[in-house]
Amino acid sequence: MLHIRNYIGGHYCDPNSGLWIENVNPSTGEVYSLIARSDERDVADAVRAAQEAFPTWSAMPAKGRSEVLLRISAKINDHLEDLALAETNDQGKPLWLSRSVDIPRAVENMAFFATEILHTHTDAHQTDESVINFTVRKPLGVVGCISPWNLPLYLFTWKIAPALAAGNTVVAKPSELTPMTAFLLAQICIDAGLPPGVLNIVHGFGPECGQAIVEHPHVKAISFTGGTVTGKAIAAAAAPMFKKLSLELGGKNPTIVFDDVKIASTARSVARAAFTNQGEICLCGSRIFVQRGIIEEFQKALIEETHRFLVGDPLEPETRTGAVVNAAHMEKVLGYIELAKQEGGMILAGGRRVELEGRCAGGFFIEPTLIGGLPQDCRVNREEIFGPAATIIPFDTEDDVVAMANDTAYGLAATIWTTNVHRAHRTAQRLESGIVWVNTWLMRDLRTPFGGMKHSGVGREGGTEALRFFTEPKNICLQIEP
Ligand code: NAD
Repeated sequence: MLHIRNYIGGHYCDPNSGLWIENVNPSTGEVYSLIARSDERDVADAVRAAQEAFPTWSAMPAKGRSEVLLRISAKINDHLEDLALAETNDQGKPLWLSRSVDIPRAVENMAFFATEILHTHTDAHQTDESVINFTVRKPLGVVGCISPWNLPLYLFTWKIAPALAAGNTVVAKPSELTPMTAFLLAQICIDAGLPPGVLNIVHGFGPECGQAIVEHPHVKAISFTGGTVTGKAIAAAAAPMFKKLSLELGGKNPTIVFDDVKIASTARSVARAAFTNQGEICLCGSRIFVQRGIIEEFQKALIEETHRFLVGDPLEPETRTGAVVNAAHMEKVLGYIELAKQEGGMILAGGRRVELEGRCAGGFFIEPTLIGGLPQDCRVNREEIFGPAATIIPFDTEDDVVAMANDTAYGLAATIWTTNVHRAHRTAQRLESGIVWVNTWLMRDLRTPFGGMKHSGVGREGGTEALRFFTEPKNICLQIEP
């Protein structure tokens, strides 16, 4: 059986514990590889390798780092098909999605930050004729990057690319549920000529291996994407050590549909925003607010669109809903569907586990589920489900919908559908959300700030925000005459 080994100091290594975690393909339910169960000893080895690599990597001109990262980007692209298949087998998402979104985005992440560092500038402040202040930005040193299971290589590269481009060396941990593409990336880095120790990848459980990265005294910053509860634990451990922290956490995102939209095309887009990737995207719109005047017609169209998210073998091209990531997550999502019924909700579409035949007989599949009749303040509408389940809620006025949309602990993404530009602007300004999309969803420009308000996170990724996070500014004040 394939062993997913650590990548430390340019080499593959077995974990110090000698222990391995079973890695399950969620579409079949079968164990198909074993993951290194790393602990603080492996993390210490990785940090040591990263410390040794730091002086040379950080001193390399930006152009040199850029060339290496562009080679990694090109090689990810060369291996697009293999990586897409690996991602689908590890995560459960449809193969066409891995092929068209996840792996191309990993290619783009590496290329974007590789070239962004060639176009930066620094500030200067002239105090008077003889005194000038200028700002230099220095890489931090060894930084930790910890990523989740829903968009595995996409989010792993979204963190390591700016960290490396800015001149840091990295100890990174992918999710123990989806480590395969990060493991394959190690070979790509070796082939692309990334110097040993610049990127180190350790695998294992969060509280053992992830926590050891957070607590290591020589790791200067933590960039984390994952759940809000984990984010709290990381913040509690890192804050007394004065580490820089970027936390990208959960969401309970509102989709707002005003009564002036074209119903059929908007329902199609709203379903896509709710159910893409089995609803396992932090940006999915899981609370769908629809203005009362069109609710009946819109709900009918949305039910039809929900049924179009065909559940099936992720390797089949017509499949639009693959497997959810593991058995525990399937039980969690089904538990919320039960809770919805107890809270007085009506299942308008889906609602059940799907048991496929053949290759996928042991897989973890759930019908895309649309729920109506629930008040905004029930648990199903407050807690993050992170699966193929969304609710539809009527509203009357702009004020009502803004109040309901903001009535959540989270503040990651919101989507507004309207043809009235005034309404769109007014509503967008009032929503407590790191991103507001109007008449589109998941349209990403990598230059824009990305992140959440409230319990959805601290800090922003993307573009210059990411490079700022991974560098320390220093002001140098120069008087011309001593
Ligand atoms: P998770 O918090 O369980 O795990 C994320 C990562 O943290 C994993 O690598 C895990 O091993 C590690 N980890 C767990 N405990 C740790 C600890 N104590 N110390 C250090 N590391 C630890 O999250 P998940 O279940 O993998 O991902 C789903 C969550 O991620 C959802 O809440 C989703 O909304 C969120 N998410 C947010 C964004 C965003 O950009 N805001 C993007 C994707 C996913």
